[in-house]
Amino acid sequence: MKKFRIPVSWSATATLIVEAEYLEAAVSHAKESPLPDEYEYVDGSFKVDSYLIDEFPDDYGEMKTGEANRVCRRCKSPVHYSDNPEYKYQCFQCDEDLYEFETDLKEDGSNQPVS
Ligand SMILES: [Zn+2]
Repeated sequence: MKKFRIPVSWSATATLIVEAEYLEAAVSHAKESPLPDEYEYVDGSFKVDSYLIDEFPDDYGEMKTGEANRVCRRCKSPVHYSDNPEYKYQCFQCDEDLYEFETDLKEDGSNQPVS
């Protein structure tokens, strides 16, 4: 079976208790407060973001497997596509999952990766 990356989102609702001198200040504080620990899922809000799938085929859709055309920035080894949803690549040499900015495009010739 193939694996696919599907972007999804949903809404949550909660009530914040905010201390302030007047309502406008309370609303202003609420906008800057961190997400509350307790919240309720908004029924029916779960959706698949098809737009992202269409616009970012490198990040979503069928998961790529095997070796990518990039190297680990730290050890210069070829990286493989990751199956961790948070990361795009993984380096077996460093035993770490990597974001794209932690990798470099593979160079041909001169800079041979360590094997
Ligand atoms: Zn590495």
